Amino acid sequence: MSERRTTAVLDRTGLDALVQVLRARGRTVIGPTVRDGAVVLADLATAEELPFGWGTEVEAGRYRLVPRADGAAFAHTTGPQSWKAFLHPEREKVWDADRTADGRLSVAEAPRARPSYAFLGVRPCDLRAVAIQDRVLAGGRYQDRGYRERRAGAFLIAAECTEPGATCFCVSMGSGPGADAGFDLALTELVDETGHRFHVRAGSDAGDELLAEVPHRPAEPETQAAARDAVDAARERMGRAMPPVDLRTLLGDSLEADRWDDVAARCLTCGNCTMVCPTCFCTTTEEITDLTGDHAERWQRWDSCFDLDFSYLHGGPVRASARSRYRQWLTHKLSTWYEQFGSSGCVGCGRCITWCPVGIDITEEASALHDELAARLRRHDQEGENGRKESEP
Ligand code: SF4
Ligand code: SF4
Repeated sequence: MSERRTTAVLDRTGLDALVQVLRARGRTVIGPTVRDGAVVLADLATAEELPFGWGTEVEAGRYRLVPRADGAAFAHTTGPQSWKAFLHPEREKVWDADRTADGRLSVAEAPRARPSYAFLGVRPCDLRAVAIQDRVLAGGRYQDRGYRERRAGAFLIAAECTEPGATCFCVSMGSGPGADAGFDLALTELVDETGHRFHVRAGSDAGDELLAEVPHRPAEPETQAAARDAVDAARERMGRAMPPVDLRTLLGDSLEADRWDDVAARCLTCGNCTMVCPTCFCTTTEEITDLTGDHAERWQRWDSCFDLDFSYLHGGPVRASARSRYRQWLTHKLSTWYEQFGSSGCVGCGRCITWCPVGIDITEEASALHDELAARLRRHDQEGENGRKESEP
């Protein structure tokens, strides 16, 4: 284990060399690129495919690409995908079953795709999300083997946030905008009078070793200070914040809140929020047979707690109303997740706000629940006070 990690500066050529070294080592490099009017995550052949000169404008239920004059590559917010699309794919075959010539049944585990991934441009909130999925899918008694194997070989290059979006609230969830753990390399992009460059910190032996193969110069104190300042400035420009209360207790005390009816009247139960969320992990399985009956397959695919079938027991779904399904999602995410996995299930990435077709905002809902609970407690105190006065002689 290295005592001292490398800090360095790369220019655009150095960034491309980084991609080429990773590819030469047989890695599939996944990073942000512009496609179909959005910044999406895709296989990159070269760093030139990064979204240089593109930023994003986001709001509740709204996402737009906007050109940037400074040519920055990492000045966009999180897009509709997260890294779970690669580590925990949306659909994956589990096994094949075939009837053999002698009429017996042969069942074979399906081969799992195990690319050697390098993720370029992982936001600090998404680093936290990967750590949460590690705990859920590879940290307990029941592990997802495909996830564990893909994750074990993955090389993570973080991109610290210097341009938070209007739906971001990582500061109030303690997950950004700076990267402090869980990466092999962390980049901070700087575009100023000194030029366009990337301050790089190694976070692992693998990061140190890779950086040694890439043309770079040592990080001078001015660049180190500029990188710190850019991240500190981003901290002050968060678009949103969770209410500064114990969310775990708040949700636990709000199970009968009237606010659930309000949000249920707006929620389409489409499940978009669970699909874009980088920590949502639920899956279901389905079996498919061919028409001859000689071949069957089992597939695992993402599921959503907004789907009626998700809680279907004999006779019908346990959570039949939109109220109960939204409440389940929010209560799990912000409260009961602690009991299961020891942390919040939300990292403040803002995706569920941006990609909700009706603009439902998790921070606004938490604030409304807090206000309702506070009003209920005030009423309760007042009634107690009145009762005491009436009983006074
Ligand atoms: S909160 Fe929004 S994204 Fe989530 S299920 Fe409801 S309408 Fe769809
Ligand atoms: S709940 Fe929303 S803000 Fe929180 S991690 Fe999921 S998508 Fe991001």
